[in-house]
Amino acid sequence: QTKIFHSLRPPVPLPPENLPLSTASYVFSLLRTSSSSLDNTTVLIDASTGRRISYSQFIHHVEALAASLQSTIGLSRGDVAFILSPSSLQIPILYFSLLSLGVVISPANPASTTSEISRQIDLSKPAIAFATSATAQKLSAFSHRIILIDSPDFHSMMTTVGRRKIKQVVVNQSDSAAILYSSGTTGRVKGVLLTHRNFIALLAGLYAIRAEVVEENPAPSISLITVPLFHVFGLFMCVRAVALTETIVLMERFDFEGMLRAVETYRITYMPVSPPLMLAFAKSDVVKKYDLSSLQLLGCGGAPLGKEVADKFLARFPNVEITQGYGLTESTGGAARLFGPEEYKRYGSVGRLTENMEAKIIDPVTGEALPPGQQGELWLRGPTIMRGYVGDNEATASTLHPEGWLKTGDLCYFDSDGYLFIVDRLKELIKYKAYQVPPAELEHLLQSHPEIADAAVIPYPNEEAGQIPMAFIVRKAGSNLNEAEVMDFVAKQVAPYKKIRRVAFINTIPRSSAGKISRRELIDRSVSYASAK
Ligand code: AMP
Repeated sequence: QTKIFHSLRPPVPLPPENLPLSTASYVFSLLRTSSSSLDNTTVLIDASTGRRISYSQFIHHVEALAASLQSTIGLSRGDVAFILSPSSLQIPILYFSLLSLGVVISPANPASTTSEISRQIDLSKPAIAFATSATAQKLSAFSHRIILIDSPDFHSMMTTVGRRKIKQVVVNQSDSAAILYSSGTTGRVKGVLLTHRNFIALLAGLYAIRAEVVEENPAPSISLITVPLFHVFGLFMCVRAVALTETIVLMERFDFEGMLRAVETYRITYMPVSPPLMLAFAKSDVVKKYDLSSLQLLGCGGAPLGKEVADKFLARFPNVEITQGYGLTESTGGAARLFGPEEYKRYGSVGRLTENMEAKIIDPVTGEALPPGQQGELWLRGPTIMRGYVGDNEATASTLHPEGWLKTGDLCYFDSDGYLFIVDRLKELIKYKAYQVPPAELEHLLQSHPEIADAAVIPYPNEEAGQIPMAFIVRKAGSNLNEAEVMDFVAKQVAPYKKIRRVAFINTIPRSSAGKISRRELIDRSVSYASAK
């Protein structure tokens, strides 16, 4: 008996692989079949200004911008565009324009430091960058053209259809669509290469289940997207909503009360959230000041959702459903989800495999595929799995099995009904509020400190953030380095979400005979260290 778990949902047919199709042209072909009026349906709303863009205007902006980028800037298929911006109405327009030209989008976290950005740029080798007047200073070392998306010039590129119409570009589904940054299962940042086919497969799955969603709830969905658009979760939500003719409300700067106000003002029905936001909903008193009765469903993903948090939330909002989804940047964000009222009740699980997805649970010691009920590393195979890591054959080879399996680095099991449960993370990754913090990067920085002999960084549990990075430090002889100095040293060199938030001094870092840090031992020790304090 083969121990492969198959999606329990009906297989979704995909367009023939050799048919030229970009993510953008696929989405627009879905829109053409939509029963909603493209003139009267709003696609984007800016929460702070109330500005709205209809579907017809959106398509017009996407085409106008693509024509300008092609004719005046000379962007062409295969070029990479680095994007450094907070969420704004321009971003989805920019994504779709670039995708329609076969230009590879590579959005990064605008909170990154200049050196983090230069490492990302070294990986993706962009021909152009899109930034805002506030983020552009971080690109001072970038030697190619930088376009400011909050400038009047950009606005006119988006609105004026030039004399020259867009020259049709043939984009193959196998072409690269996006390079997203992730540390994967180990080490430093890598560029996850996703193809148009990956996005098309993801969208085809979502489109296939749309009929069921509409049957269940025919009212149009209005989503408030506060998850970042540079991360696969936000990017996916945005592409998904456009493909399904939904309305998206975006917030440029996130603040909790502003978010509650937006829910009230725009009668938000759906929100993708990360667990810390769910906790804030469950605990904060400001929530009571706003009318949140329009909310129907919260989709939680990106990091583990504690059962207590979900219970607290439901006690406070008995009329709101919670769904969970699980995925990775390397799987275009999709892999498993709870779908429909029956499955929503199972929120201890992250759901069942998405359409066309297969999985195995691999015993980390024997490499054997395990049956339901047994824990092992989750491997995934399907059309949304990445092509590989750009320019890093070694990392690609250790993450993608030759038979197409993605090794997720997550310790999981399936129950006998096909529900997936995430037990722990085998990989090094720390998730602070669902943001990726690669320990190896912080260890490398710490080891460069003149008074530090050795260092290791591990996840430490925290109610609000899920996990915080904790450093174990071995001081050099004679050093009196203290906790605050260690934290400060790192804080100056990394994006705020990567800061070290807890420090312990020890005599040696435990390592395996191969020299690998014994993280499990340190994680166990961190608990006793905390209770001893
Ligand atoms: P990222 O590439 O940033 O999306 O990170 C992917 C990783 O986040 C996964 O491999 C998991 O470790 C974690 N993750 C994502 N969604 C969930 C979830 N619903 N529950 C638990 N962990 C999750």
